[in-house]
Amino acid sequence: MEEYPKLNNKTDIKSLSLGELENYIESIGDKKFRAAQLYQWLHEKLVTDYEQCTNLSKELRGKLEADTSLTALKPIKVQVSEIDKTAKYLFELWDGNLIESVLMKYHHGNSVCISSQVGCRMGCRFCASTLDGCVRNLNPSEMLDQIYRIQSLSGERVSNVVIMGSGEPMDNYDNVIKFIELLNSEKGLNISQRNITVSTCGIVPRIYELADRNYQITLAISLHAPNDELRKTMMPIANKYSIDEIMKACQYYISRTNRRISFEYSLVKGVNDTGECASQLVNLLSGMNCHVNLIPVNPIKERDYEQSEHKAIAEFKNKLEKCRINVTIRREMGRDIDGACGQLRKNYIDNVDID
Ligand code: SAH
Repeated sequence: MEEYPKLNNKTDIKSLSLGELENYIESIGDKKFRAAQLYQWLHEKLVTDYEQCTNLSKELRGKLEADTSLTALKPIKVQVSEIDKTAKYLFELWDGNLIESVLMKYHHGNSVCISSQVGCRMGCRFCASTLDGCVRNLNPSEMLDQIYRIQSLSGERVSNVVIMGSGEPMDNYDNVIKFIELLNSEKGLNISQRNITVSTCGIVPRIYELADRNYQITLAISLHAPNDELRKTMMPIANKYSIDEIMKACQYYISRTNRRISFEYSLVKGVNDTGECASQLVNLLSGMNCHVNLIPVNPIKERDYEQSEHKAIAEFKNKLEKCRINVTIRREMGRDIDGACGQLRKNYIDNVDID
């Protein structure tokens, strides 16, 4: 018997590829072509209930209902920014856990930032997602459904997906790969690999594995510091993998995929925003096919990290530009709506606990 992904001890129907769904449908005694119909209901028409699958027999719907889990995230709270219309969604999973996702509207299309885990165990000092550790990994269906629900609720077509919400995607590698395959599938939302970004704090062996898959997705590395000593004070993962090892893995990724790497660098006042840091970063990245995304750190109340001054941010950017490194300052989206990673969920849980 084939082992299918499970949710709540039942087959997790939305995490199945079309091939797996065909085998599954045959295993419960129905015709193979029903799988394509069901796949379309789940991944193109985005149903949340088998009752909506009108071309499937009542008998099959009954079997599915009894035998499977159909992931349909429950929106608990939606906050829309008055500044830029960025919308932040708080969703409840089948087991009561909460996750958050963000819809950002750009000129070139709509981008959704999804979570890959409930919480995170990486412990980055500036990040709200990790304050209570990692509760569990998300199944592929639970990553997909963040996009499906946002598309259904907002009525907006999603063209870009970034795995940059709560969680470390490389710490939930197999499910993230399956998620990318489903998201990219022609019979699903068919989001092109070039429009998908995976962001990691730098789990080196997984970067090599991902490179060998030869996807055309964008790899983003959360660097945040130009030397190991400083990086260790900001990100515990730096004790495990050095910047040198990360750079070698990135070179390998570029050689396999021909894709430009994105480096994220959150600027923290007096910590990593100095001229010396900018010079070290230039030395590190010169000549590499890459792009640097400067993010003014979004302060969280549990930590004392402050955002860099405008002047320091501008100087940092200028220094990189002068040395011909592609650099942009990330536009701060949704500052008025708990914009930083994991903030909405954390604030919600903390306040509910007090009540
Ligand atoms: N674990 C992955 C993806 C999630 S975090 C990673 O580390 O890349 C997405 C990005 O937001 C990372 O670059 C992370 O370092 C950054 N980030 C998290 N909290 C932040 C904050 N308060 N201010 C600015 N950037 C933050």
